[in-house]
Amino acid sequence: QAKGSGKNTHVLYDESMNQELEEKLILQGAIKQAVLNEEFTVYYQPYVEANSHEIIGFEALIRWFSEEHGTVSPYKLITLAEEMGLIVEIGQWVLKEACQFAKEINRERDVPLSVSVNVSPVQLKYHGFYEQVVQTLQEVGIPSEYLCLEMTETVLLESLESSVDSIQKLRDYGIHIALDDFGSGYSSLQYLKELPVNVMKIDRSFISHVAQSEYDQFFIQAMIMIAHKKGLTVVAEGIETKDQLEVLTAIGCDLIQGYYFSKPRSKKDAMTMSI
Ligand code: C2E
Ligand code: MG
Ligand code: MG
Ligand code: MG
Repeated sequence: QAKGSGKNTHVLYDESMNQELEEKLILQGAIKQAVLNEEFTVYYQPYVEANSHEIIGFEALIRWFSEEHGTVSPYKLITLAEEMGLIVEIGQWVLKEACQFAKEINRERDVPLSVSVNVSPVQLKYHGFYEQVVQTLQEVGIPSEYLCLEMTETVLLESLESSVDSIQKLRDYGIHIALDDFGSGYSSLQYLKELPVNVMKIDRSFISHVAQSEYDQFFIQAMIMIAHKKGLTVVAEGIETKDQLEVLTAIGCDLIQGYYFSKPRSKKDAMTMSI
């Protein structure tokens, strides 16, 4: 069919590819609208100290309950936002929400809880990022120690040197930095060596078999030993069972996060939990 023959031009393409692209374009349009309408919300999942099971802090996780598209997965939302150049704006919005949450939960506490915010590589590369973070902390009025920024090693795939500089600057300001999804990439240990992070989060993929697999236990134990040698705090994410909790605690993991303790909760529910 010739181009310009109107409605039927789409038969030139593979049907499923065409449909996928169409869905993507529709979702992208919806994301733009969602930013304007402030349709996103932030959920908070607690992480606890492994031995005492006391809450130490919360991870902020974006949620989009779209009237038209249902609950859109954060992976999908973030990936599309990155492609569209909207991640800086969305990420900044999450950061502000999370800082306000940190302020509220710590209003009447002696030992402060921290709040962890996921940062996309695109955000870290954005030149005004450091200033934006500092300004947000000042505007909201919380100390830098309340905030932890979580980054995956994909942050570094392009330019290790400039990432190290950016992360060091944030660390110097007193912000905690976590290496998220540790072990899921192919050269994680090298990155652990180079990066000025102070928290390591073991990827959920290692946790799922840890109660059955001796190899996985040894492997995680080795990662924890290396992290501790570097003075890092180790978090296990995705703990769903008592067995997993017991193994991770026994091999020296510091903090635990996962459905076993709590799923991510709305701000209101997380607040109640933190009292
Ligand atoms: P992540 O940072 O590794 O977050 C942990 C994910 O594991 C969350 O998924 C959380 O709900 C889920 N999880 C926690 N405990 C368990 C468990 O016991 N079992 C299982 N099956 N899952 C568990 P979620 O909320 O769907 O987020 C997925 C990813 O999307 C995050 O992975 C993060 O990479 C990204 N993301 C979420 N919010 C943001 C954000 O505000 N900004 C950016 N840049 N990325 C975000
Ligand atoms: Mg994370
Ligand atoms: Mg993670
Ligand atoms: Mg992850």
